Amino acid sequence: MRIYLDHNATTPVDSAVVDTVSHVLQNCYGNASSVHTFGQSAKALLDDARSTVASLLGAQPAEIVFTGGGTESDNLAIRGAAGLHNPSRRHLITSTIEHEAVLNTIKDLTRQGWTATYLPVDASGIVNLADLEDAISEQTALVSIMHANNEIGTLQPINKLASIAHSFGALFHTDAVQTAGKHPVNVSELDIDLLSISGHKFNGPKGVGALWIKRGTRLTSSLTGGRQERNRRAGTENVAGIAGLGIAARIASNKLTGETSRLGQLRDRLESDILRNIAGAELNGTGERVSNTTNISFRGIEAEALLIALDLEGIAVSTGSACSSGTLEPSHVLRAMGLTPQRAQSSIRFSLGLGNTEEQITRVVESLPPIVSKLRQLSGHHAASRT
Ligand code: PLP
Repeated sequence: MRIYLDHNATTPVDSAVVDTVSHVLQNCYGNASSVHTFGQSAKALLDDARSTVASLLGAQPAEIVFTGGGTESDNLAIRGAAGLHNPSRRHLITSTIEHEAVLNTIKDLTRQGWTATYLPVDASGIVNLADLEDAISEQTALVSIMHANNEIGTLQPINKLASIAHSFGALFHTDAVQTAGKHPVNVSELDIDLLSISGHKFNGPKGVGALWIKRGTRLTSSLTGGRQERNRRAGTENVAGIAGLGIAARIASNKLTGETSRLGQLRDRLESDILRNIAGAELNGTGERVSNTTNISFRGIEAEALLIALDLEGIAVSTGSACSSGTLEPSHVLRAMGLTPQRAQSSIRFSLGLGNTEEQITRVVESLPPIVSKLRQLSGHHAASRT
């Protein structure tokens, strides 16, 4: 049996979601904008999903805009706020550890005349409130800081950051792609304006997500076209995908408390066994974290080699490295936390989800030490020596 420990990349689709998507594709093919019964049945499915997604986030249904996933939600939030064209507010703030969906969107806006500040994080992966206070001004239009990081799982102090942003009249967006459905998310407690989620990170379909837009928040639409989603996201709605997202949100809401603590226990056992049994294993990201994620570096090991060796054992994990111009770039997140390139390149992310069991974790912690020793032997490395 293969063991999947890469749930922050994507999750298996729940069978109830598969049934719903397939049923809707086959039977509810109306266009939700049509007035006839076919159209109205499709619209009823959208309404249903809107209510369920809203309730997962402690929001109102009218505040939910369905999108084509987390990347599109981030784009809509950031470009939508920038598109308000307030000439006195041409400054954006984000953090150095955001997902590319945020970083590259902001980079693109800087090519169009916007200025941007990238807040650093400390060694545990957390943004410092004082750094936001120093960077923000009356010229800042939007602050976008992620709720939990995808590589290390650390949670940011969102409501404190948002309150600083609001005191300067700036909007606050958070990318909650790695928290929605697996960690409590309540938009009023977070005290924010915009929040992105993605279906495939919590056992829903890929290519569907949502942006929560606080009632009364002005935003321009990035797409030109029809008037769907109250003029905020043009294009015929992906009714089947959205219905699937709704079912995934319902399942996640029902299981949230139990799963968060179950996965937390499994993660803690995985982490403590690895750190205890493998010399030169070190934890990355020690702040408050989502319960399913741990990121560990293995001194003297190339993470890619470990990933492949684990895959051969039937265990799927990931590294934060990205392949650019044929070379492996160490993770920008781990580098931002001050890790050396060598340590960053020896880091593995384990991210747990619904299907993982105690037995699977036992197999992983038993498989790892001999693999790590063998890889170290091959590279002539001793755990005690520092790289
Ligand atoms: N934001 C974060 C933090 C993510 O982890 C991801 C996906 O890995 C995204 C955004 C992009 O979401 P999607 O794959 O739905 O476009």
